[in-house]
Amino acid sequence: MTGRLAIVGLGPGAPELITPLASNILAAATDLVGYAPYLARVPERPGQRRHASDNREELARARQALELATAGKSVAVVSSGDPGVFAMAGAVFEAIEDGKFGWKDIEVTVVPGISAMLAAAARVGAPLGHDFCVISPSDNLKPWDLVLKRLEAAAAGDFVIVLYNPASKARPWQLGEAFRLIARHRAGSTPVIFAHAISQAGERIEITTLGQADPANADMHTLIIIGSSATRLIAKGGRPVFVYTPRHAELVEP
Ligand code: SAH
Repeated sequence: MTGRLAIVGLGPGAPELITPLASNILAAATDLVGYAPYLARVPERPGQRRHASDNREELARARQALELATAGKSVAVVSSGDPGVFAMAGAVFEAIEDGKFGWKDIEVTVVPGISAMLAAAARVGAPLGHDFCVISPSDNLKPWDLVLKRLEAAAAGDFVIVLYNPASKARPWQLGEAFRLIARHRAGSTPVIFAHAISQAGERIEITTLGQADPANADMHTLIIIGSSATRLIAKGGRPVFVYTPRHAELVEP
């Protein structure tokens, strides 16, 4: 008998930000599959099996989950944030498309989660209140020239730009280059938000400007939001307390 496979978003970290639907599906699963730190966020249940894997093994993890479902298990693959945003849902569908005959018959459900950009935006106000673009400047899964092409188009289009995976030890210089490219289209006073470990123990939020943004302040737990020409700050007592992008926009010529 073929089992079931749910790809479940755990949200950005805090248990309150997991949806009730995600909690119910996690509780009903016979087998949980995922990156160990994400599995650690799920309450233990007697009789439930856990299959923890390393970070960079998404496709192998997806195949393992599909094998378990083929063997009749009720499998939940966990993902941080939303499983469809730079995460496991894409990997599972890649595996199904390329994989064994039979995997296409597995009942697959994608359970949405609160993506890091939504949690980060909510912490500072409403920076995503108008058109925005989401880009991963990582060149692990795409060529750097494509990253540059997309950044250039987003910057020229005056979108608010959200950067997932902005930096890591293996990618020390890319973020600086991304900031320089965007600065050719935007004022140095454009608001930039560094949102680190949102809703987790080490949460840290820095509101700065494009002119002052220091790429060294980002790591793999940081998400960056770069304002459009309309994004602005509301200050109180000389300190920025809210960042928002108005719901209306004007055509800004370079
Ligand atoms: N599926 C996830 C994204 C996975 S990619 C989601 O929807 O949120 C991993 C990147 O997400 C990290 O490099 C970081 O840029 C961002 N991220 C994930 N959780 C975060 C958090 N709690 N705070 C800030 N950024 C986070």
